Amino acid sequence: MYFDYLATTPPDPRVLDAMRPYWEGRFGNPHADAHIYGLDAKEAVEEARAKLARLLPGARGEWTFTSGATEANNLVLKGLADLAPAGRTRILVSAIEHPSVLETARFLRGRGFTVDELPVNNDGALDVDAFTSRLGEDVLLASVMWANNETGVIQPVEAAARLCRERGILFHTDATQAAGKIPLETVPDFLSLSAHKLYGPKGIGALYVGPGLRSRLGVQIHGGGQQDGLRSGTVAVPLTVGLGAAVDAALAGMTEEARRLQDIRNRFEEGLRASFPDLRVNGEPSPRLSHVSHFQIPGVPMADLMAALPEIAVARGSACSTGGEEISHVMAAMRMEFFAHECLRVSFGRPTTQADAEALLASVAETAAAIRDQAGFSAQKK
Ligand code: PMP
Repeated sequence: MYFDYLATTPPDPRVLDAMRPYWEGRFGNPHADAHIYGLDAKEAVEEARAKLARLLPGARGEWTFTSGATEANNLVLKGLADLAPAGRTRILVSAIEHPSVLETARFLRGRGFTVDELPVNNDGALDVDAFTSRLGEDVLLASVMWANNETGVIQPVEAAARLCRERGILFHTDATQAAGKIPLETVPDFLSLSAHKLYGPKGIGALYVGPGLRSRLGVQIHGGGQQDGLRSGTVAVPLTVGLGAAVDAALAGMTEEARRLQDIRNRFEEGLRASFPDLRVNGEPSPRLSHVSHFQIPGVPMADLMAALPEIAVARGSACSTGGEEISHVMAAMRMEFFAHECLRVSFGRPTTQADAEALLASVAETAAAIRDQAGFSAQKK
């Protein structure tokens, strides 16, 4: 039973149907457009780009296809750093960014940039006051993800983007978990995403670059000059077509699907709370993606729970590394480091039914209760 839709989503059947011809007869190189094969591929790529653009209504910039959000995040941070104006030496990131932002920013410390990792409140949302206090004239870029990939907490991107705009500071958001799930109603300067989180194929993503900002980005992948020279390499036609189809499918029923999943998620959390009144739902009371539940059951090490339920695919708040237990940086930023091992991340998706969630609830509740009993845990003691 799969409940890990924040890690990845299965390709939608509409995505597979749309891609199939481009794996078969329609195999042209979109950059070799002197003949019908190349022209056909080029048209397919541009159509996919146009579909992608519907994710950010009102945006007038350009979309560049990349291999995923990791590459898009690397491109925007390193690209801006390469051509940074004199005096713009500070990069602001939230402390809960995905490693593809966080580690790239940290790498840039080695190139002379100062990186501020900005705190979040206990509910996992950016501390806007702390953010605002750092928006000085030396800031090159601020990067705040749209929704967090562990807690599902939706970040105050609208406020962060506005604060940056007012001060002439460039703003980037990693919208990998938000794209196709919630309306993207703020137009940032730069935005990254990955197709496989929205029922598209793996190995393709995109970077949105606002109008006039292309020249601010140093090229990271040199070569044949494809995609306006920003990202050389033959565009992966079937994957771009898949991304376009995934966006179409996501936008077609986004509000209804979010509501359906919210109902499933809420019932799941209510059921869990009925069994464990001391349940802590991480991220509350912040707005959260409606298909995510990240919670702590005090006294239940989730490594034990997952070992007892190998048929269930969920994610933990901490991971085993060779040195022992590695605490998630997101949990640490939320001052949850002592409880991360008791946290579980469950995420629902397009194939999930109410019955699936009920089966999950029954398994988790029964196993967690057994683990507590075995340990002689008493909720009153805590
Ligand atoms: N950003 C966020 C918020 C993510 O959740 C992920 C994937 N876990 C990425 C970036 C990286 O995406 P990809 O691995 O497809 O490059």
